[in-house]
Amino acid sequence: MTAISDDTRCPCGTGEVFGACCGPFMTGRSNPPTAEALMRSRFTAFAVSEPEYLLASWHPSTRPASLELDESVLWQRLDILRTSGGPFDDVARVAFAAHYRSRPGAPEHQRVKGVQREDSRFVREGGRWFYVDGEPIAPPR
Ligand SMILES: [Zn+2]
Repeated sequence: MTAISDDTRCPCGTGEVFGACCGPFMTGRSNPPTAEALMRSRFTAFAVSEPEYLLASWHPSTRPASLELDESVLWQRLDILRTSGGPFDDVARVAFAAHYRSRPGAPEHQRVKGVQREDSRFVREGGRWFYVDGEPIAPPR
């Protein structure tokens, strides 16, 4: 189960509390209505270290057999750069930048800080959105 409570501010950056944002998706109470909402909840799953949710929201055609999350990394902030696909489409793309750094207290030689930028593909099947795959995108100049 998730390590954060419903009244904690959601890690995905909407400004909502977890219980009114990604929480219901991650606990299976409802499904993300859009690819962007799924993307946000997947970021939250990284932030709170929930590999099961990442696998469950991954399309079976590209889903890895298992997933090891890097516990030394803290996912700090998500920026949605652009989205495509309207409410009636069953395919969508979401480009994002996910900011990370080492957990506090990490030894100096292991400290990292960076941004993962990706253009992700999503499909909707049976009313549910799934992550398919993504391509790295270059940082802005
Ligand atoms: Zn959220």
